[in-house]
Amino acid sequence: MTTSPLLEKLIQHFNRFPGIGRKTAQRLAWFVISGQKADAHDFADCIRETVDNFTTCGQCLMLSEGNPCPICSEPSRDDSQLCIVETTSEVYLVENMHEYKGKYFVLGHLLSPLEGFGINDLHLGELVSLIEKRKPAEIILALKPSAEGEATIHYISELLHNQNINLTRLSTGIPFGGELEYTSTLTLANAWKRRYRV
Ligand SMILES: [Zn+2]
Repeated sequence: MTTSPLLEKLIQHFNRFPGIGRKTAQRLAWFVISGQKADAHDFADCIRETVDNFTTCGQCLMLSEGNPCPICSEPSRDDSQLCIVETTSEVYLVENMHEYKGKYFVLGHLLSPLEGFGINDLHLGELVSLIEKRKPAEIILALKPSAEGEATIHYISELLHNQNINLTRLSTGIPFGGELEYTSTLTLANAWKRRYRV
């Protein structure tokens, strides 16, 4: 028996999620189909509502329910520190440390020629405008310790080398090749405390 085209479409949707292979995608699709219709409708509505209500902050480019986002619009947040991360989910990771009171910038991607992400994909024009406007004393590069992260740190340090900014990066407490988001808050907090000048 061939898989129904509708079921196949659902499986493919799950299969696109990070870390979800074909087998898990099939299990999830069957879970949705076999459960209560009302639960599946709630799930679909929740996805639609969340996606429709989130937007990109015009200043830091994080995804948020408001523009500007709650962090850019919070007067008690310190403009003298700017933390650069790859994605919005990493903003939440840094926030979970409860140590950082500065602001953020979300690059969107790391430099990765193999995956087709070059310097034009990194919103560097927006980053430079934000730096000119806020004039941070320190920029913290909280990027994944991978070849892509290293290439991105190198490129940004070259880009900003004429500016009077203390450019720092996290210590290598995070294992090379590890995902920033899979490390514990404690590991991240240690790497954060031992950050050093690029
Ligand atoms: Zn923002």
